[in-house]
Amino acid sequence: MMRIFREVSSLVGAMGRVPGSKNNAKKKKVYKKAVKTWCRPRDLDQVQDDMEKEVRNGKKLEFEVDDDLPGLGQYYCTPCARHFDTQGTLDGHVSTKQHKRRLKEAKQERYTQDIADLGAGKTKEILPPAHPK
Ligand SMILES: [Zn+2]
Repeated sequence: MMRIFREVSSLVGAMGRVPGSKNNAKKKKVYKKAVKTWCRPRDLDQVQDDMEKEVRNGKKLEFEVDDDLPGLGQYYCTPCARHFDTQGTLDGHVSTKQHKRRLKEAKQERYTQDIADLGAGKTKEILPPAHPK
């Protein structure tokens, strides 16, 4: 929460109104945007990258001790990209519907640019080499 406040106060100025505005609407808008981007979860492709990394290394992702994160950042759920206070809450979370849904989404096939192009009807033309050896 302190980080959001610092972010907003740097955008709005230490205190008072945003220059050029007669009411507080601009300040509220700036605050809302800051909170929205601060609370933004990791995107699915980022999570898929993380999960691939875990599989490759054969162990869970490790984080350095961070005072700002719950549980000092030591209890992390990779598919949901969330930190938890204790091992108990993490274990409780693993059996929830939200976690299972997120895990299912993350295990789906990755959506790539090639698939998007195919969907749009674009095909890749493979030309013969211009200068055959
Ligand atoms: Zn989870």
